[in-house]
Amino acid sequence: MRAIYRCTICGAYTENSIHCGSPAKLVIDGYLRSKLSHLMTYLLRHNPKVINLLMDNEGWVGIDELVTQ
Ligand SMILES: [Zn+2]
Repeated sequence: MRAIYRCTICGAYTENSIHCGSPAKLVIDGYLRSKLSHLMTYLLRHNPKVINLLMDNEGWVGIDELVTQ
């Protein structure tokens, strides 16, 4: 999985290390992004109760709920 960078000029998030003609700031490297993705998939798809995530009746979880857990 590719790293995510934030442009120091326009503030956009991108997978490119150069944006707006300048080096962008690394936010998360590809390895950690992949690990985080797998963790979120596990929690949301398979076992939300392990961290007491509150889902609504349609299976949605608020981003604030997910981030603070
Ligand atoms: Zn930019």
